[in-house]
Amino acid sequence: MAREEVTVALLGGGTVGTSVVELLTEHAEDFRERIGAPVRLTAVAVRDAGKARPGIPSELITDDAVAVASSGVDIVVELMGGIEPARECILAAMAAGSSVVTANKALLAEDGARLFKAAEQHEVDLSFEASVAGAIPLLRPLRESLAGDRVRKVMGIVNGTTNFMLTKMDEEGVEYADVFAEADALGYLESDPSLDVDGHDAAAKAAILAELAFHTRVTLADVHVEGIADVTADDMAAARDMGFVIKLLAIAEKIDGSEDSGVIVRVHPTMLPRTHPLAAVRESFNAVFVEADAAGQLMFYGRGAGGHPTASAVLGDLVAAARNRVSGSRGPGESTYTALPVLPIGRAYTEYYVNLDVADRPGVLASVATAFAENGVSIQVVHQEGHGDDAGLVVRTHLATDAALEATVEQLRGLDTVRRVVGVMRVEGDEQP
Ligand code: NAP
Repeated sequence: MAREEVTVALLGGGTVGTSVVELLTEHAEDFRERIGAPVRLTAVAVRDAGKARPGIPSELITDDAVAVASSGVDIVVELMGGIEPARECILAAMAAGSSVVTANKALLAEDGARLFKAAEQHEVDLSFEASVAGAIPLLRPLRESLAGDRVRKVMGIVNGTTNFMLTKMDEEGVEYADVFAEADALGYLESDPSLDVDGHDAAAKAAILAELAFHTRVTLADVHVEGIADVTADDMAAARDMGFVIKLLAIAEKIDGSEDSGVIVRVHPTMLPRTHPLAAVRESFNAVFVEADAAGQLMFYGRGAGGHPTASAVLGDLVAAARNRVSGSRGPGESTYTALPVLPIGRAYTEYYVNLDVADRPGVLASVATAFAENGVSIQVVHQEGHGDDAGLVVRTHLATDAALEATVEQLRGLDTVRRVVGVMRVEGDEQP
């Protein structure tokens, strides 16, 4: 018998929630056709029920999120963000038999295992496409389209604000403090800016990507994180001179060691050759580059944030969950069967850029080269810049482990020929795609 309707309740009526309501209303006919039954919105839970909310019918608004979550509708869409009460509400929704769609990267990266377990226990769907890279269809391709392949590496620009800032620094030569002030004035920064600039937002997304790509559990605590606050206009200029650009990348990769295998998940400023597809991703756009054994290289590009773009991903999940309700089926659950260990950052294997302020006297180059050689780090290129008090050396290495590079830098700091280690940065994507 045909289903009369699919009931949906919303937790959160902010930027994304409002767009979801608007698009659901505007395209109601399309949703009915695509799902096979009309969607009926039953409630929108917010914190302040008295606030004016154009775009959301006032009779749907309530401030009792837990009651809405527990109401037993077909699908609960969680767009409040944060850990609590979002977790309590999602667990209550599943216990009441509702499938859940969420955009909450913070909660998924911190306690995803618990949510997946509850979805399994209550035989409901849990989908979260909007939690990483906003509008870009990325998680479904990783979870479903690439389920027949082996992903080796995922590397992406997943925080639009820092990409906007780094683009400005690269193209206009401005310093970090100035571009931070500009992003702040434009309202681009999260209310806690450190989520953006210290890399924590990107790290939550990296954990989610790594889990899907490698079928193993990864949480926020497993991610090595470095933000962009130490990137200087000088680093940008040095990168440009070498044909590189600096991006904040989230990188998840599988390491097949001779003794052990595992995954490394890291977020840090990275030098990329300007010819790399990710180097062309400017301003607040997001993009994710995936390397898989059989598929080869794939690139996903688009808007990573904003009400309507994010709502597009939320509504894609909503349609999929609604179709499953109509057909009496379920989408894919969690896949963590590989149970790979998360390896320490010291095992990461990349090329490096090292910028040194050195004394201008004979023997400097030899002492620097010895420090690299003694730690097994091979030098690819050295540029010598300036004279006297301005003497500098810019070194590009071949592939080395993070641990070896760190030991090299420690040794360089102890040399009387090196006045200061000005900058150290990882270099990715040098093997031309
Ligand atoms: P937002 O504009 O701050 O909206 C949050 C909504 O949740 C507001 O309506 C707020 O109510 C409500 N809320 C918060 N705490 C609540 C509580 N305890 N009980 C009931 N309602 C509560 O956030 P947003 O930008 O729409 O983001 C929503 C989610 O989408 C987050 O997980 C975010 O990480 C994710 N996301 C957002 C974007 C984006 O571009 N904005 C992109 C990707 C993912 P009031 O309106 O009364 O304050």
